[in-house]
Amino acid sequence: MNLNEYTLKTRETAIYPPETFLEYLTLGLASEAGEVSGVVKKYIRKDQNLDVAKEKLEKELGDVMWYWARLCDELGLDPQQVIENNIKKLQARKVNQTLQGDGDDR
Ligand SMILES: [Mg+2]
Repeated sequence: MNLNEYTLKTRETAIYPPETFLEYLTLGLASEAGEVSGVVKKYIRKDQNLDVAKEKLEKELGDVMWYWARLCDELGLDPQQVIENNIKKLQARKVNQTLQGDGDDR
């Protein structure tokens, strides 16, 4: 399954009020990113070993991806283009030696 096929598949499980898609999906994305952090926190705290953490991270990263793909789809963004533009941006920063630091327009 490629990225565009995946994004189309997420439509089948997209259940939320259409009028609040932006709020719902951004909150969901942040929430799932928090779940990723929670797994890492438990690993650092030694509540779970690396194998267990990896297993959980695989699932949580999938959840992050679902919300990311739904946001792209709802906003009419081509997910393939989004990731390609991101790589171009980062490669330009590397060339300009501005990978470190902050701000979107480096
Ligand atoms: Mg989750």
